[in-house]
Amino acid sequence: MASTLIGRQALVVGAGMAGLPAVRALADYFEQVVVLERDTLPLDASHRTGTPQARHTHALLGGGQRALGELFPGFEEDLAGAGAVPFRVGLDLRFETPEFDPFPQRDLGWDAYAMSRPLIELIVRQRARQLPNITIREHCRALELVPSSDGAAVSAICFENGEGRTETLAADLVVEASGRGYLTFALLDAIGRPRPEETIIGVDITYATAVFRIPDDPPADWKAVLTVDRPAEGGAAAIMAPMERNRWIVTLVGRHGEKPPGDRDGFLAYAQQLRTPTIYNAIRRAEPIGEVVRYGFPASVRRHFDRLEKFPRGLLPFGDTICRFNPVHGQGMSVAAQEAYLLHRLLQERAAETDPLAGFAPAFFAEAEALVETPWALAAVPDLAHPKAQGERPEDLEQRLAFGAALNRLAAEDPDVHKLLLEVLHLLKPQSCLRDPDLVERVKATAGQA
Ligand SMILES: Cc1cc2nc3c(=O)[nH]c(=O)nc-3n(C[C@H](O)[C@H](O)[C@H](O)COP(=O)(O)OP(=O)(O)OC[C@H]3O[C@@H](n4cnc5c(N)ncnc54)[C@H](O)[C@@H]3O)c2cc1C
Repeated sequence: MASTLIGRQALVVGAGMAGLPAVRALADYFEQVVVLERDTLPLDASHRTGTPQARHTHALLGGGQRALGELFPGFEEDLAGAGAVPFRVGLDLRFETPEFDPFPQRDLGWDAYAMSRPLIELIVRQRARQLPNITIREHCRALELVPSSDGAAVSAICFENGEGRTETLAADLVVEASGRGYLTFALLDAIGRPRPEETIIGVDITYATAVFRIPDDPPADWKAVLTVDRPAEGGAAAIMAPMERNRWIVTLVGRHGEKPPGDRDGFLAYAQQLRTPTIYNAIRRAEPIGEVVRYGFPASVRRHFDRLEKFPRGLLPFGDTICRFNPVHGQGMSVAAQEAYLLHRLLQERAAETDPLAGFAPAFFAEAEALVETPWALAAVPDLAHPKAQGERPEDLEQRLAFGAALNRLAAEDPDVHKLLLEVLHLLKPQSCLRDPDLVERVKATAGQA
């Protein structure tokens, strides 16, 4: 990655799955990049308090894997070397839906990796730490963004350091990757600017997750399983995947008041009444490791920063601060990695300009909005199919659902369509690829046969 410096110091709030890839992009264009992280960061792939979601299944989609590989060359080898489990996409995941039990399993030509979220983060963190101009300051809680006297820019961050003292650090650019965006919103309120409009889909999801040791004789025809139910019948789902150190992680997903239990017996009983017995049969005699943990996720939230007329110079909200996706679709980390790749490209394009940071945030928001569009649309349509989901339903929701169902049937028959569909779902290709006129004709013909 070529470089031309455009600023003295960039600050990143949060050493999570958005902050760390952003650090890589910034490192080429700022003399110093400082990350403020409130947690103690483990030296291994263990859990920490600032990311409670990390105890649950975290899938890294192909698009995220590719973006992280661009930012950190050799990333896949690092994952594999650390024990992540490679699996052939389309072949090693048993996908069970009411229409297909299972969906045809076939080799679509590429590997993904299954591992714990702390392992992905550890690998990315280790790579970020190797950059010579990066400092990660642990036990540092960002308190507020400091605006310039005219309120037109962010000039510094005020934070509490590990000794409990308040410090202020100046910055040319601040990336907020805290996962929530509260620093950005507090700043906008303080300088009298509007917050971005939000699109919200109330999905009311409850996760319960347990970990098991993989037995000596695991099933031979799959490495991972995804089981889903019809939305009208509750929309329960379950995912089971291998992880480093010979473990399975199993997440049971309930919606709209349906809460998978947080105790071991209840967890097994819930698994037993899933639509198919695959997961229950695999885990009922497997050795459990640790406790069952739960997580509640009320709503997906997309923030339209691109619609704001003005935005303070030197500030960039990032990752979940821009869009918090329903975790069931496994998109958040991958979109954050793609945003980091976008950030690098925009910095590169502007590096030779006299004032590269002028209008930078609006330029980033415009492209980030396009980047978020495919994953958001892919998730919104099935989520809104649930009768109890809250949110504005597109007028043609029924048509879109019928198109999706027919596309799935065509994908089951035709390996090329299967591959294309998974490339889109993995964020390797835009959703517009599914609107190719020939493909649309074939999907319509399939729908007509139903
Ligand atoms: C249950 C669940 C399951 C999920 N499953 C998947 C999945 O399968 N695949 C996927 O891609 N995504 C998944 N996600 C989404 C994924 O976790 C997020 O998209 C991703 O972590 C976003 O990264 P982030 O850096 O924006 O936030 P986070 O990873 O949450 O990181 C925020 C960081 O900021 C730090 N921080 C916060 N406030 C401050 C402060 N004031 N000062 C200093 N530091 C601060 C935190 O300690 C943390 O380290 C899931 C989410 C949930 C809730």
